[in-house]
Amino acid sequence: MQILLVGAGLSCAVIGRRLAEAGHQCRIIDARDHVGGNCYTRRDPETGVLMHVYGPHIFHTDDEEVWTYVNSFTEFMPFQNRVKSTTQGGVYSLPVNLLTINQFFGKTLGPDEARAFLAEQADTSITDPQSFEEQALRFVGRDLYEAFFKGYTEKQWGCSPTELPASILKRLPVRFNYDDNYFFHRFQGMPRDGYTPMIEAILDHPGITVELNTPYSPDMAETADHVIWSGPLDGFFDYELGRLGYRTLDFEQFSHQGDYQGCAVMNYGDRDVPFTRITEHKHFAPWESHEGSVCYREFSRACGPEDIPYYPIRLVAEQSLLGEYIARAEALRGVTFVGRLGTYRYLDMDVTIREAMDTASLFLECLAENRPVPAFRKSPL
Ligand code: UDP
Repeated sequence: MQILLVGAGLSCAVIGRRLAEAGHQCRIIDARDHVGGNCYTRRDPETGVLMHVYGPHIFHTDDEEVWTYVNSFTEFMPFQNRVKSTTQGGVYSLPVNLLTINQFFGKTLGPDEARAFLAEQADTSITDPQSFEEQALRFVGRDLYEAFFKGYTEKQWGCSPTELPASILKRLPVRFNYDDNYFFHRFQGMPRDGYTPMIEAILDHPGITVELNTPYSPDMAETADHVIWSGPLDGFFDYELGRLGYRTLDFEQFSHQGDYQGCAVMNYGDRDVPFTRITEHKHFAPWESHEGSVCYREFSRACGPEDIPYYPIRLVAEQSLLGEYIARAEALRGVTFVGRLGTYRYLDMDVTIREAMDTASLFLECLAENRPVPAFRKSPL
């Protein structure tokens, strides 16, 4: 079969590879001048620092098959994300852990004492937290909420935490020990030379051709037996029903001689600091050493038509529009929607790869059983 895959990011690379290995011809196009989508990394020409061009990407997973998969294409180095937060005139450790609690409240509590102390801070009248704010007040109390989460979240999402679902905060643990590893997954690391060589290696198969600087046009689909679409779901339909809401990011790049902030990620919890965080790229590759340093100040704002979509917003209004686009997609034949933009979900890299593997398996099963390949492996509603 001739398969057209739109977007040369993780989803289409993984799917294309599987389908090419099964003997299909995969043509992957991308409007950008590079592969890798938003995982793209490249070296800064002046300092030699490996840059996470579209913001930091840290690989973490509990999925052993996914971990084995990525390690089969590139060498991974150990890396644990240890995030700090500057707020209310101090610097603290994230995610909220015993050090954060003791430093923030000026105490010397042990784990059980801290648990009891936070339980006193918590608003126990909230029994079933629905919003981000309720979740925070219920589990960490008002003081920590206001210092670490309220301002940051208002900046990140452009709305009040009362309007956001509790699920967003549930991404972050609260720990009653001194473990400051941001993630709790078994497997964590960074590709030694960045994500670009890893994705290039996945794409390196005789059954795959990659065309960069090549925007999609509907006539391309006519020459293909099937289209795998990893662009925006609403973009496939020319935004006919309106646009699904996204947040976009602006990165203000600056250089520094030596070490700017002493860590990879410094969050800023105060509302009156306009950016959400500063990332210092060389600290994502602690096995390298560079004199110079390159940093990003990261600003979040509503995504306009010309901007790069990053975070799907998925508030109530988006849900109904999403439902309408899903119905349209499901009425098509010969197009499968994948990835963060194609299914309008905030996906970590490991989940993206897992879903891409499963989509490729489903595709091959459908062909073997002579039934149509569905628009979505699972409904993204
Ligand atoms: N968050 C926060 N303060 C922080 C870090 C995170 O309030 O210092 C909130 C914010 O709303 C964010 C959510 O917690 O969207 C999830 O955090 P995570 O680090 O997973 O953000 P992401 O990786 O999605 O940028």
